[in-house]
Amino acid sequence: VWVDEFEKLGLEDCLDHKWPVSCVHISDHKTKYLDRPYGRVSRKKLKLKLLNSCVENRVKFYKAKVLKVKHEEFESSIVCDDGRKISGSLIVDASGYASDFIEYDKPRNHGYQVAHGILAEVDNHPFDLDKMMLMDWRDSHLGNEPYLRVKNTKEPTFLYAMPFDKNLVFLEETSLVSRPMLSYMEVKRRMVARLRHLGIKVRSVLEEEKCVITMGGPLPRIPQNVMAIGGTSGIVHPSSGYMVARSMALAPVLAEAIVESLGSTRMIRGSQLYHRVWNGLWPSDRRRVRECYCFGMETLLKLDLEGTRRLFDAFFDVDPKYWHGFLSSRLSVKELAVLSLYLFGHASNLAR
Ligand SMILES: Cc1cc2nc3c(=O)[nH]c(=O)nc-3n(C[C@H](O)[C@H](O)[C@H](O)COP(=O)(O)OP(=O)(O)OC[C@H]3O[C@@H](n4cnc5c(N)ncnc54)[C@H](O)[C@@H]3O)c2cc1C
Repeated sequence: VWVDEFEKLGLEDCLDHKWPVSCVHISDHKTKYLDRPYGRVSRKKLKLKLLNSCVENRVKFYKAKVLKVKHEEFESSIVCDDGRKISGSLIVDASGYASDFIEYDKPRNHGYQVAHGILAEVDNHPFDLDKMMLMDWRDSHLGNEPYLRVKNTKEPTFLYAMPFDKNLVFLEETSLVSRPMLSYMEVKRRMVARLRHLGIKVRSVLEEEKCVITMGGPLPRIPQNVMAIGGTSGIVHPSSGYMVARSMALAPVLAEAIVESLGSTRMIRGSQLYHRVWNGLWPSDRRRVRECYCFGMETLLKLDLEGTRRLFDAFFDVDPKYWHGFLSSRLSVKELAVLSLYLFGHASNLAR
């Protein structure tokens, strides 16, 4: 995540490593240094902080798999795999992209971010310890790999790297977005070729990530009688696949809408409640902005390596207010239009 995003949320203490500068290799001849600190989220610290806050607020936990959701006019219930039934005024589904409980009224034409990542102990690596590598679009490592090179030219992948010390590094070969999904094995093979070229010898793999994130596509039907948050609610950034900071920022917005309805003396429940919570998370302005981001994703899907390089070359040259805002989902429709016009002026003919 970007450090400023987590600072704003009061979650800076959940970062276990920070880099003052990020860098982007557009090609072998062009590198950009981004003056925006980046941080790695400690899953353990973040989880502990959230759990502590739940305990302080007397949240009750129950561990089971939900099999079914049932609805009556003013009450819903879940049926768990151990047979237990739990009822409440509102069900909020946070079970990820593949949830069966959320309905769509349009075909789900999302894109996929596919990545293969490892946290590895290595003999050495070429990365500066004060810089995180946001994107490395160089393809010189594929010089002796004609088959991989041709495919990479059409559907490029980049390296994302977080160096922790001279022997510990997180490396991830990433397909930003593809549709149909780029094969995971293809991504893995490209990473092997890249590490060989960079002279990185892996001593041991401490953690491995197989990453498939669905991006863009339509929002769930709004409203509906199950509320959603996280990957199943459409808040994954359609052009970057990031979600953590956005979820943390929008969860209180949703909580507020729930409190306003259920905590009011009129006890707003049933269809009025569903209407309020869904529109609280997705007011029309936010939906319009998301449409623009989805358009961004559709553009990325059409770009080959050269087009992608040109786009990011222009993107990171724009006034930081715009690229920061774009990546952190902070831009209004008007600001997105300004950014789009700028990119249009600097893009390849294909991207235009
Ligand atoms: C490898 C990887 C790397 C990523 N890196 C980043 C990053 O650097 N920055 C960023 O912002 N985003 C990142 N993301 C994206 C972001 O983390 C995902 O969008 C996020 O994991 C989705 O979160 P979620 O809580 O909605 O769903 P999930 O993380 O999928 O969690 C859903 C939970 O619900 C549980 N569940 C599912 N079905 C049921 C059921 N029927 N009953 C009970 N429980 C159920 C599951 O067991 C799981 O615990 C990454 C994602 C992946 C996969």
